[in-house]
Amino acid sequence: MRPAVRAAVRAWARVPHPRGPGLMVLGYHRVAERDDDMTVRPSTFAAHVGRLVAYRREVPVVDLDRAIRNQPDGWPRRAVAITIDDAWMDVHTNGLPVLVDAKIPVTIYVPSGLLGARDHMTSTQVCEWIDAGMTVGGHSRSHADLRSCNDAELEREIRGCREDLEDLLGVPVTSFAYPFGHLDRRVRDAVAAAGFTSAVSTRRGWTRPGTDPLRIPRCIVEDFDAVTFRAAIKGGLNVLRGPDAVRGRFGRSGP
Ligand SMILES: [Zn+2]
Repeated sequence: MRPAVRAAVRAWARVPHPRGPGLMVLGYHRVAERDDDMTVRPSTFAAHVGRLVAYRREVPVVDLDRAIRNQPDGWPRRAVAITIDDAWMDVHTNGLPVLVDAKIPVTIYVPSGLLGARDHMTSTQVCEWIDAGMTVGGHSRSHADLRSCNDAELEREIRGCREDLEDLLGVPVTSFAYPFGHLDRRVRDAVAAAGFTSAVSTRRGWTRPGTDPLRIPRCIVEDFDAVTFRAAIKGGLNVLRGPDAVRGRFGRSGP
């Protein structure tokens, strides 16, 4: 485990938790036998899901979109929402069956132009998430850094993604994840104008009453051991700041 993460877990007990309702949004990317910061191993993922089930009374797992729509009256004091970005094939193979068995709701964020591309889910596989009761959100068409798009490109990447997914799935698509977690005011407003009502970033923190629903913080999950995962779902990694929170080596598949 990286030293910064280990230090965050140690510091966690000393960090005051919010008094009112607080939603912790966790973000995954890949579930595979790979060794990088964007991947958790299948055995780790199963252990994380097992812990979510074990903690469910204390920290219920909620559907992100529904929680944002109902905020804050419909929230328990503490809740966690699970998101998975990029629609990797290994998440369908190694993640979906575990989630279905455990009845854990998640939102997957899909770059609509990459469906069927190498190592990515097919259109049929994305439909299987809806059939399993999960939520599908938009993640642009091509996983571009939206800040560098002109207005026409922005419209294609954001509204186009929503239309692609709604045509495919036949259900409203109302949640969005910014590729790489990158956004500015223009990108945020374009996401709102395209009809999305919630959007997640990669800045760590609690989602609380009053949080901009189009700038929802998230904690990106790595191949965490049990202690670190417990700290993550209870907001313990929010103390990670600076270059560790937004690192520049994610590549195209990044958050
Ligand atoms: Zn991504």
